[in-house]
Amino acid sequence: MTSTERSYVVHTYGCQMNEHDSERIAGLLEADGLHAVTDQADADVVVVNTCCIRENADNRLYGNLGWLKSWKAERPDRQIVVGGCLAQKDRDMVQTKAPWVDVVLGTHNVHRAAELVAHARTSGPITEIFDEAVMDEHALFPSALPARRDTSYNAWVTIQIGCDNSCAFCIVPSVRGAEISRPFADVIAEVEQLAANGVSEVTLLGQNVNSYGRDLQLAARRAGDAAARVRPMFSELLTAVGAVPGIRRVRFTSPHPKDMRPETFAAIASTPAVCEHLHYPLQAGSDRILTAMHRGYTARRYLERLAEARRVIPDLAVSTDIIVGFPGETDDDFAATLEVAATAAFDSAYTFQFSPRPGTEAATMGECFVARAVVAERFERLKIVVERSALAKHRARIGRVEEVLVEGPSKRDASVLTARTRQNKLVHFATPVPLRTGAYAAVEITAAAPHHLTGRFVELTAEPLHKRRIPVVAG
Ligand code: SF4
Repeated sequence: MTSTERSYVVHTYGCQMNEHDSERIAGLLEADGLHAVTDQADADVVVVNTCCIRENADNRLYGNLGWLKSWKAERPDRQIVVGGCLAQKDRDMVQTKAPWVDVVLGTHNVHRAAELVAHARTSGPITEIFDEAVMDEHALFPSALPARRDTSYNAWVTIQIGCDNSCAFCIVPSVRGAEISRPFADVIAEVEQLAANGVSEVTLLGQNVNSYGRDLQLAARRAGDAAARVRPMFSELLTAVGAVPGIRRVRFTSPHPKDMRPETFAAIASTPAVCEHLHYPLQAGSDRILTAMHRGYTARRYLERLAEARRVIPDLAVSTDIIVGFPGETDDDFAATLEVAATAAFDSAYTFQFSPRPGTEAATMGECFVARAVVAERFERLKIVVERSALAKHRARIGRVEEVLVEGPSKRDASVLTARTRQNKLVHFATPVPLRTGAYAAVEITAAAPHHLTGRFVELTAEPLHKRRIPVVAG
């Protein structure tokens, strides 16, 4: 590093897609000669990668930008970059409200991050938002760009961007655009490259992964390719990714219940590398609310497919998302959600209290909003139901020996390691031998809580294969 090299730090809010975009922005900045720092005080460039799905995202962003104004005033050559969904949605508003921001970029031009930073340095503030994805592999898919990953043993791989659905509570289709699938061969090539670098776990990313390939098939058929009728489908992609030598674990997020097909369950069951974990977003258990949300399935259909998944895939863990207090939700609607959640017996759930996101259909249903106190009380009741099933599922694992992937020392207690089972369950365990992050170990489960398991080290099953030096952690 030379004294003239500039440095950067990236702050990320939101989902895995955003985190993956941040890895790519970091990779592009590094390819342009900048280096990463952890402390913002040492940085020349701060990137804020925003999300508009969470509550109060805009308040939080403009609060942070107010604070960053004084950070920038300390050294005029410092730069502030705002990207992500909120920047895409608010467009020119960011620079109107915070004119000290140097670069505003949207979700369709992540690939331009380094160029825009360099351009703004000489030419002043710039806002560049594209309305649609550009039909270019590097522009479209963040995975096709250079990346700077925090871990070397696992990686996200984007297989699809955008979403063709129109869930009433969701801003994603308007900020990320229509679904576009990444070519099958490109996904496989990236996974092969990752495996060659020692990555052993990949998570396939998309807004609606199980509709992967639908657009590719349509385009191929329009071009007269009859053979394209049956491929590529998500199930085939899972099988092919799972067959890449060196890949021990394949995960994917998120599927949509209405597009879940028997072939996908079969592929999970028959491909040893594909983990026995399904994230299966319920959102609500009342058909009336599911219709208002435009989810495209009924509670009965949801439960039937879930039962089918559990029948086909042995030892399947199931997680979900549920929104409490969607506009118009009555006591009876909520009772239906509690009933479906109890019947589904989830291993874990991300539960949310509804709050309107500007730009969504649900935000216009003001006359039907449920009182906040009612929503809060329902939320607590749902939490009890979900934690009950989670604890029961976790207790059933006591005494089993499970293979875990070591993530590193526990954040709460550095004397124990944190790891994940194939079912994506968090396990804390002490080890008498040093274990590197990215190693696989057999662990006997000794205790259970609703959100984690406790275990006892049995044996090392595989050393990490990645080449980059990472800290050795010992018990
Ligand atoms: S499926 Fe629904 S919730 Fe998921 S990204 Fe698309 S619109 Fe949003």
